[in-house]
Amino acid sequence: RAKANGKNCYHLFTPSLERIAVQRMSLETSLRKALESNALELYYQPKVCLHDIRPGMSTGHLHSFEALLRWPKSNGEFVSPESFIHIAEDAGMIGRIGFWILEQACTQAKEWYQQGYQANISINISPRQFLIPNFHLDIVRTINEIGIPTSLISVEITESLLMQDLTHARHVLEYFREHGIFIYLDDFGTGFSSLNYLKNLPVDAIKIDRTFVKDLSTSTADQAIAASIITLGKNLDMLIVAEGIETAEQADFLIRNGCDLAQGFYYGHPVSASDAEQFLHPDDLLHCNIAHRPAAK
Ligand code: C2E
Ligand code: MG
Ligand code: MG
Ligand code: MG
Repeated sequence: RAKANGKNCYHLFTPSLERIAVQRMSLETSLRKALESNALELYYQPKVCLHDIRPGMSTGHLHSFEALLRWPKSNGEFVSPESFIHIAEDAGMIGRIGFWILEQACTQAKEWYQQGYQANISINISPRQFLIPNFHLDIVRTINEIGIPTSLISVEITESLLMQDLTHARHVLEYFREHGIFIYLDDFGTGFSSLNYLKNLPVDAIKIDRTFVKDLSTSTADQAIAASIITLGKNLDMLIVAEGIETAEQADFLIRNGCDLAQGFYYGHPVSASDAEQFLHPDDLLHCNIAHRPAAK
């Protein structure tokens, strides 16, 4: 249709491109303001232990939390992190936002720790953040400065981040491992999943992506994929986490196939720190027989 309009095609496209650029800039400006005015929030979603629950039970012992970033809009809804993390990356803000997330998570873990709960919190590391020089040193330093055991913080990384520079990735991940920071490989199976990563990197746990869990009760392909990832992870001495569990049927399949941990609306939505306290029980981490550090490889 643009072509049929001949010369006018520029008039057809330029304003909308401009509008996108303007929208992006104003989003960037408000994100910066949100960060400066401490308007961002960290939500927490439980990961539960599947070893000691029977099929059909929707409760499980808390294993740990995943921290998920929330940017509240004035109408009470949230801007999706998927739509603003990359803006933060492009605008060079991801270092500061990442640091804010880490400080927030450490402070929360400390508060719970002081109340007697050893609730591990995992934070998502964006690919661009991973490339900031010495960011791994900053993470460990911050945890130490806030004054909690490094074993209370975990990191979630994605395959896309590993692809960029495997040598650098290994160096950073080995540093985390030396300091007792648990490493999850997030969204497994959606990127360029290379078995080479699993072989060469000190990954502690694999998170089966939600896209494979969604149709687990009907799709034999998804069943085969999920079961195979579980077997693969087990043979490599890694923990397996399934994300996005919404139904009892999905949970049952994962339990029957030996999945270690589960995360999803079925067990608990991401919620504010005060709401997350409902998941804390003093003896949970004693009953949850999954330690944070699997047997040394
Ligand atoms: P992710 O790390 O894979 O996080 C899981 C996403 O799945 C979260 O979306 C969570 O709310 C959602 N989820 C959990 N259980 C269910 C379920 O049962 N059903 C459905 N439909 N969804 C479920 P969220 O919070 O919107 O985050 C999306 C992505 O944005 C995250 O994917 C992560 O890649 C990124 N993200 C979120 N928070 C942060 C952060 O603090 N830092 C960075 N760098 N990225 C973040
Ligand atoms: Mg994650
Ligand atoms: Mg994930
Ligand atoms: Mg995912």
